Amino acid sequence: MDYRRTAVIKLDIPDGADAFLRETVEQFKHCANTASEWCWHGDDGFHVTSKAKAETALYDQLKTETDLTANLVQKGIRRAVEAVKSGVERIKRGEDTSKPHFSADSVVYDKRSATFHRDHVSLSTVDGRIECEYILPDNSETPPTKYVADEDFEFRMGHLQYRDGEWYLHASMQKETAEKTPESTTEHRTVLGVDLGVNNLAVTSTGTFWPADEFNHWRREYEKRRGDLQACGSRHAHENIESVGRKETGRFEIQLHTVANELITEAIENDCSHIVFEDLTHIRTEIPEASWQHIWAFRRLYEYVEYKATEHGVEGVQVDPRNTSNRCSTCGFTHDDNRHQESFACQQCGYENHADYNAAKNVGLQYLRRRQSAGDGGAPVDVRLNRGTLNVSGEYNPPATTQA
Ligand SMILES: [Zn+2]
Repeated sequence: MDYRRTAVIKLDIPDGADAFLRETVEQFKHCANTASEWCWHGDDGFHVTSKAKAETALYDQLKTETDLTANLVQKGIRRAVEAVKSGVERIKRGEDTSKPHFSADSVVYDKRSATFHRDHVSLSTVDGRIECEYILPDNSETPPTKYVADEDFEFRMGHLQYRDGEWYLHASMQKETAEKTPESTTEHRTVLGVDLGVNNLAVTSTGTFWPADEFNHWRREYEKRRGDLQACGSRHAHENIESVGRKETGRFEIQLHTVANELITEAIENDCSHIVFEDLTHIRTEIPEASWQHIWAFRRLYEYVEYKATEHGVEGVQVDPRNTSNRCSTCGFTHDDNRHQESFACQQCGYENHADYNAAKNVGLQYLRRRQSAGDGGAPVDVRLNRGTLNVSGEYNPPATTQA
């Protein structure tokens, strides 16, 4: 069995290295965005989803245009090809999508472009290797210190990320224990349910909330500025509207990337094989109070999770959203009176909780029921809660008292 974890490690950057790391990030994004541009509509009008084809066409050019090592240039191209592939999948499903654009400050490192140590990492940059010490919390029982200190966890790869003036290494770690089970399909699986909403962008069945305050604040600010500029009515104002729009979109995207990464970490830390979302096709009817920015954000969030989760062996899936907000996750009684804004109170069994949390559990349960009705005789599946799990009948199982 493999245990995978993402350790989010804050980095101590040596004096003067910040500029080189930033330049590395910019050049990596340049590689990814150039490749995205080239792949999205190839010469023949078809999307290119072959890494080999993209590398053959772009490698020499990008190697000349940047100061990156061969490995980082390849990683930049591959990152774009992966995103284009996801886009093509969405087109096949008849969903709205557009050319992938990489705006988040992030670089993908594997063991050839980085050397991962237990107390520091050596990163390939535009100015050769730079060594960054880890800043780890003292408590050796909590992540990331727990995983970094555990020699059984091996570093597989990492994402260097720049956020709010700080540098982080999102290290993917893996621990191999005992022998692999041959029939992995019969392995017990656990899923993470996610509810998307206007007050909380995301709430998981494990009881973690991502409030939408900041998002809503930016959104209102944007609408207000746009209104003011529109009142001016000049051509200059129109250009300003566009530039405000780009700035806001960039901000939103960074935030959505962060939430997506944190959702994936949540799934990994709870040993979940799937992250379950509501299907967003009829989102306008399901959440009538959602603005176009919310709907855009929900779709982007799902897309980010869907394509990033696979790197960690986790799968993003969508289920029928019907009744997830007015159904009781404990007894199944479904009624509009069960829900009053943010509070859920079951009219039948008396179960009470935050409405979004109840909905997140239902989203997970919906996936369990779908698998059951599909006659998939395979492994049992549970929904992961804050403590313990729920099975398909809504029965609660407390957590094991001892670690197996
Ligand atoms: Zn109930």
